[in-house]
Amino acid sequence: MLTSACGLVCPTVAEPNPQAVLRSPFQLHFFDTHSGKRLDVVYRDENGFKQTALTRLNNYLEDRRTGEMHTYDPRVFDLLHDLLTALGKPDGEIDVICGYRTPWSNEYLRTHGHHVARQSLHMQAMAIDIRIPGIPTARLRDAALALHRGGVGYYASNDFVHVDVGRVRRWVG
Ligand SMILES: [Zn+2]
Repeated sequence: MLTSACGLVCPTVAEPNPQAVLRSPFQLHFFDTHSGKRLDVVYRDENGFKQTALTRLNNYLEDRRTGEMHTYDPRVFDLLHDLLTALGKPDGEIDVICGYRTPWSNEYLRTHGHHVARQSLHMQAMAIDIRIPGIPTARLRDAALALHRGGVGYYASNDFVHVDVGRVRRWVG
C-alpha cells in the first residue's frame, strides 16, 4: 500500500489519472442548441469507425421536425474532430444548430425565409451547422476553409458555420 509505505506525504503522481486513461482522441462532445441534449461519444478507435457510436450519432442528429434519421457520412465526424484539433480545442463542445434534414424540412425552411439550398447536403446527412463556444465564428470558418474538405457556409448574423463533406466550395449565408 502506498499509504503504509510513505504515509500522508505519499506523492500521488504514480496513480493513473482515470480521465487520461478513458480519454480517446476520437471523442466528440455535442450540445443540441434546440433540445438542450448532450452527446459524448467515441466514434472511432484504432480499428476504424464504431458502428454503435455511429448509430447513436445518427439518432442524435435526426431531423428535429419529423424525427426521421439518416445514416450520416462518417467523414463528417472526422471533419469535426480535425476542426477541433486545428482550433486547439480537441475536447471542446460542438453546439449543433442543425443536423439531418428531410427533403420536407429542407423545403419548409427554404420557403419560410431561411437561407437554405434546394439541394442542401443536410438531406444526404453530409452536412452539419455548428458553432464552438469560445471560438469566434469567423475563426471557425477560416479553420474549416483551411481543411479543404468540403463546403463551408458562413452565417454571421446567426452566428454559425455550415460544414459538409461535399465539393470544396464556400458561401456567405
Ligand atoms: Zn447547413
